[in-house]
This record gives sequence, structure tokens and C-alpha cells, in this order.
Amino acid sequence: MQVTVAYLDNAATTPMRPEAVDAMMPFLRDRFANPSGGHVLARDARNAIDEARDVIAGVLGAEPGDVVFTSGGTEADNLAILGVLDRVGGAAACSAIEHHAVLDAVVSRGGRVVAVDEHGMIDLGELASALDPDVAIVSVMLANNEVGVLARLGEVARVVHEHAPEAVLHTDAVQAFSWIDVAKAARGADLVSVSAHKFGGPKGVGALVVRDGVGLAPRQIGGGQERGRRGGTHNVAGIVAMATAASITADERTESVRRVTELRDVLAEGLLAAIPDAIETGMPRNSEGPDRSGRVAGICHLCIAGVESEALLMLLERSGVYASAGASCSSGAMEPSHVLEAMGVPRELALGSIRLSLGYATTHEEVDLALDVIPGAVERLRRTSDRSRS
Ligand code: PLP
Repeated sequence: MQVTVAYLDNAATTPMRPEAVDAMMPFLRDRFANPSGGHVLARDARNAIDEARDVIAGVLGAEPGDVVFTSGGTEADNLAILGVLDRVGGAAACSAIEHHAVLDAVVSRGGRVVAVDEHGMIDLGELASALDPDVAIVSVMLANNEVGVLARLGEVARVVHEHAPEAVLHTDAVQAFSWIDVAKAARGADLVSVSAHKFGGPKGVGALVVRDGVGLAPRQIGGGQERGRRGGTHNVAGIVAMATAASITADERTESVRRVTELRDVLAEGLLAAIPDAIETGMPRNSEGPDRSGRVAGICHLCIAGVESEALLMLLERSGVYASAGASCSSGAMEPSHVLEAMGVPRELALGSIRLSLGYATTHEEVDLALDVIPGAVERLRRTSDRSRS
């Protein structure tokens, strides 16, 4: 069956899982009570949150009491970095390819930003030199949202324990949860962020795992919810739906990774073969070709010389292919993203980068449409730019 639309922007957000939609509906209708209340309806809502907390704790390898519900990944990241600094003082450090929710929080407090190599792996030597007893929190993301590189968090934890033994380790697992077992991969982290809309839940809800003993000042004070770590009436429907999506994601993960890896490889190989001079951004190689084992299944990131990402995305959109770029327009000029800059991608290549991100719902037909459309669009843009130069 041919499709007319290929949604390849799952790293931006995923479609909601139907089960998650069904799970939230009762809490938008009859079971609408405020869980902080004292009557039977309130207790019903509170029980639903407690059940969701157990589920989220289970899939993240945490204790239920460690889970703090938030309004999403940004708030979880901010709470981790700023909450720790506000409680214990000291400095923060993070990798240069963090999401802005971490990077800007660290930079806003004069923190240290640690370089990555051309593959996007944090430089452990530089991390060691950035650490001293003054560092209170180190943040290294489990999976990067642009190129999909997976951190070696165990090695990062070892360096942190050796050089800043008092520091806590935070990991932003927002992009990782769909693809890897975060309970296992993040067991060396003291703080872990997730966001529901990246794995089939609703937007505007997420969680921060705060392991027992980690000192954290709240960013929102008021009603004392979440044991005083995050005030504000709970988003009951969102929390319940997040737990449903998380549980299905964890149950289906092995099969989903297998299926999506296959689709991603077909997409990447097809585009590399059809587009002269296209490269897979920062991808390591082994004797057999590109080694994608250190990347999440869902991301295919390419740099295409001789095109501008924005123009390419516009052409693709007209043909029903929705993707995103690694460059954005700030103050009227295209600028490469901080991630591509940190990886040392030459500016002219970064300006022609495109991220195609697949998700649990991506189909073969969508990949076929992308393979049909993208090479032709690139050729057209290259012809136009050749003509305008001659
Ligand atoms: N961290 C990463 C790695 C992300 O990709 C995102 C969203 O794109 C966020 C944090 C922010 O999450 P949210 O959209 O839930 O605020």
C-alpha cells in the first residue's frame, strides 16, 4: 500500500499510543478529582497516581518514592541541575551536546561544558580535567536528540566518582527510553529525566528520578506535592497515560528496536546510495561499513553538501515527508546546531543536515516514500544552486 505522508520527526514527538489515549480519558471525565483532596474521589485519583508511580519506577529501575512527576523533559532537566545547585551549591558540568534544557541551565550558572569527539562521544580526559571537589552535578545525556549517539554512561560515572566523588550524576534519558533499557543503562546515575511524548504518551508530562539521598531544592513551591520536591496539582490524566505508554514501550522494546533498526538501515543505506556525497553525520566505521551500534535505532542523520536544510525540508514537506534539520534560523541567518558544531562538522555540511527520526509507529511504506522523494529533492536543489552560481 502506498502512503502519501511519511512522518519522520519522531524525535520531536511521537503519535500517542491509542492505549495511552484510552487510559487518560476517564481522568478527563468522571475521575476528575484533585488527588490532594480528602474524599473518596480524591483518593481514587491519588491511587491512580500511586499505580502510575509504581509503573514508572519499575521501568526506570527506581523506587516509587524516587519518582518526581514533572511537566516534561525540560522541567525534569531544570529541576535536576538547578535543584541540586540550589541545595548544595558548587558548580555544574555537562557535555557540549546536551539538549538546551540541560545546557542552558548549566551555562546560566557559569558551569563547565565538556567537549565531545567527532562521533559525539564525551571526551573522558577533558571531563576528568573539568572535575574538582567544587563540582556538585555532572549531566551527560543517555541518547542525543539530533544524531542519536548513545553515551557510555558507565565510563562517565567512573570518571565522576574518581575526580568529583561528592558530585551527583544526572542523565537526560528523554530520547533513550524508546530504544534502550533505561533501568539498566542509567543505574549509575543519581538523577534520570524522561518525557512522555517521546514514547507515545501525551505532551506536558514527564518524570525525574531522584535517588534516595540526593539533595534537591524544589523549583516550584506551594502545595507540597511530590514530597515537597515539586509543588502543583498533579496532571492526573497525563501521568496515568505516561505510565501506560511507558509500560507498553518497555514490553515491546526488543521487537520495536529490531524492526526500526531494519527500517533505519534501509533508509540510511538507500539515501547514501542515491545521493552522491551524502554522509551519515559523525558515524564511526568498521571493516564492514558504518557502525551504527552506538546510535539509537530511531535516528538517521545526514549531511548533504550543496543543499540548505531549510529549502530541502520545504520541498520534502510538499511531497508529504516531514523531517527536521540540524541547523536553525537565528537572527535571520542559518546557523548550525550546537551539537554539530561540537562534533566538528564543517559549517557548510552542517547547514545541509537533515534528521529523519523513526518511531514505534513508523512503517515500511513511509520509508519507501522518503526514499522515493528525498534523492530527487536534493538533485533539484543542487541543480538550482549550480545554475545560480553559473
Ligand atoms: N531532552 C531531550 C534530549 C529532548 O530531546 C527534549 C525534547 O526534545 C527535551 C529534553 C525536552 O523535553 P520536553 O519536550 O518534554 O520538555
